[in-house]
Amino acid sequence: MPEVLPGIHIVDGVDPSPEFSTHVYLVKDKGASWTLIDTGLPGAHAAIERYLAQQKIEPTAIKKILITHLHRDHTGSLKPLANRTRAKTYAHWIEAAFIANNPPYVGPGTPPAEPFTVDETLKDGDSIDAAGGLIAYHTPGHTPGHTSFYQPERKILFSGDLYFVDDGKVSLTPPEFTHHGLTALISARRMNQLSVDSLMSYHGGPVLKNGGHAMRAFTHQY
Ligand SMILES: [Zn+2]
Repeated sequence: MPEVLPGIHIVDGVDPSPEFSTHVYLVKDKGASWTLIDTGLPGAHAAIERYLAQQKIEPTAIKKILITHLHRDHTGSLKPLANRTRAKTYAHWIEAAFIANNPPYVGPGTPPAEPFTVDETLKDGDSIDAAGGLIAYHTPGHTPGHTSFYQPERKILFSGDLYFVDDGKVSLTPPEFTHHGLTALISARRMNQLSVDSLMSYHGGPVLKNGGHAMRAFTHQY
């Protein structure tokens, strides 16, 4: 699935098997540069570089790499991609510590494959000059420092693993992969306050239209 919305690509070919679907988002900035949101499993960088070549995007045109959380399927190719693109890397300050393996993450979901120190740590409410202007929202629960990225102008929410999407239906990521489910639910309720048109989830894929409605349909069950 290449360009799903103007300037927003889902990188093809990063999944090791059809049963495990990840969605690495490549997003055009306001200028000529690009932003990558999450990096896939270890080894996914080869597919990402192939995709960039297909799209005639120079790896060094990626100026920022944003990480939603520490899990290996999001940070697996961070190091090789940071080296190849020379992009500035960002994660929430709690996740940044776990990604650096200091202290090592203990909990559900797979920890990072190798330690990496991000360039910039984020906190709730930070503005990031990327992808047309993003706001970082700390959305803990799935992991302690899980972060979602909101593009207010276009009402797009990059939600990492806060949600799981199945055939356009939104739920929370299953508890066996989640650090604290009730906290994730509270984060989801908070995201309901935002006006969301497109919900860009990492697993199960995006809800391109009426994403906010799909989010609320789920949280109203509680
Ligand atoms: Zn995760």
